[in-house]
Amino acid sequence: MAVRSRFPAGLALDAHKQQACGTQIVELPLPAHLVLALDQGTGYSAEPVVAVGEAVATGTLVARTGHPFASAVHAPLAGIVVAIEAREAAVEGGRSVCIVIEGNGSDRIDDSVRPVKDPASLGPEELVRRLRDAGIAGLGGAGFPASTKLASARNLGAHTLVLNGAECEPWICCDDALMRSAASDVVLGALILRRAAGAVRCVIAIEEDKPAAIAAVTGAIDGLRDDAVTLAVVPAVYPQGAERQLITTVAGVEVPSGGLPADAGVICQNVATAAAVARWATRGEPMLSRVVTVTGSGVGHPGNVRAPIGTPLAALIAASGGYRGTPLRLIAGGSMTGRALPSDEVGLTKSMNCVLVATRDDIGSRLGAVELPCIRCGDCANSCPAGLLPQQLLRAALADAHDTLRQLGVHDCIECGLCDYVCPSQIPLADRFREAKRRLQEAEAMTKKAADARERHELRQRRLQEAATIEQETFESVRGRARRPGVDSTGDSN
Ligand code: SF4
Ligand code: SF4
Repeated sequence: MAVRSRFPAGLALDAHKQQACGTQIVELPLPAHLVLALDQGTGYSAEPVVAVGEAVATGTLVARTGHPFASAVHAPLAGIVVAIEAREAAVEGGRSVCIVIEGNGSDRIDDSVRPVKDPASLGPEELVRRLRDAGIAGLGGAGFPASTKLASARNLGAHTLVLNGAECEPWICCDDALMRSAASDVVLGALILRRAAGAVRCVIAIEEDKPAAIAAVTGAIDGLRDDAVTLAVVPAVYPQGAERQLITTVAGVEVPSGGLPADAGVICQNVATAAAVARWATRGEPMLSRVVTVTGSGVGHPGNVRAPIGTPLAALIAASGGYRGTPLRLIAGGSMTGRALPSDEVGLTKSMNCVLVATRDDIGSRLGAVELPCIRCGDCANSCPAGLLPQQLLRAALADAHDTLRQLGVHDCIECGLCDYVCPSQIPLADRFREAKRRLQEAEAMTKKAADARERHELRQRRLQEAATIEQETFESVRGRARRPGVDSTGDSN
């Protein structure tokens, strides 16, 4: 079924997908060593449960976590742990503690890696727990554990699972390739995710510019004979694949400002996450690998590669024809929301859907551009898919005016970068809003910390006052009795 976009604005961008999209997914041979970041791209880390010198098998748990925003990490390769140390990584700030595993040629598989006998017989709670233990993270770019979203969807009574196959950002096409080659995995994973979320229906959303993926997923849905799983063909407009915008388009509801999709009765997961869930169910595989687009004019043979998590990007690029021309920048993600990487030694993370080896031709138009004053043209507001007023947000961000930032809805900014893209003054608006949100969050945390400290202080003062009152009352009562004839100061009768 074709549906219309229902969010304001958005733009049809030059997709740059043809470079990588025409090819089949290539399986990367196991590299000699892996660099597993304990922060898999969410800003939160797991804790190592192995030591340097320890032997691990394929699938061995190497880092666990109880944090809702971090995911467990497993060894995608049998070998020896040769280092646990801070290294350059594809994360905010550019560094994370990493576990480095050197392969030892063994093909030993951990005993825990066993196909799930009958996933349909597992209750939602058990499914969520096992997906968390398997380290299944959202593969659409954010990398948050699937189990966290599933648990909150169940708690809030979400009825609809939206499976995100929109993949709207320029350059990235790994989901397209996956849907073309493993549509039945996507659909099997959708059924398991729907059960785990306690949802009753599932809509798989794909942008209209992916006809082969649409055909493959349609075929897999037809084979199900389940009317509660449907396909929505959505317009190819950026940022159609942003969670809130896709939910509005597909389910016709708006996620409330500051709320969760589950508050609107919806949970959104990526199609690649669904395929990873299917691999877990059919092979017992925790999250050991992902499909990643390796593209840009700076790489020899752009394409899509299935590679173990932790694969050094240098190995990925070498397997994709090596460097070509004069690459200017290595970017994790696409050209709109991607993050510049410190080097090609960083390991592939669960959240990395694209490695863009960009030359000046790819991203040069804004490089070195001189930022000019705002001319109040309004183009940014006309393009904002969240319906915000970037020009006013910019003024508030520069003044660090926290109340105004909140009133203007800075928390609803999805950092899509469209306002930057259209701004004739070349103001890096999305960066400014990201930074403003960070400062706002810090200020809110400080305010909360101060309020907590004040509350603790008041509580302590109350307790001290109560203790002093009791002490005084006891003293008065003992003294009163001591004055009575025949009672000593301990209260005993003589
Ligand atoms: S697009 Fe740029 S110049 Fe135009 S109003 Fe927005 S911030 Fe100002
Ligand atoms: S980055 Fe934020 S303000 Fe700019 S267009 Fe996207 S959602 Fe709107």
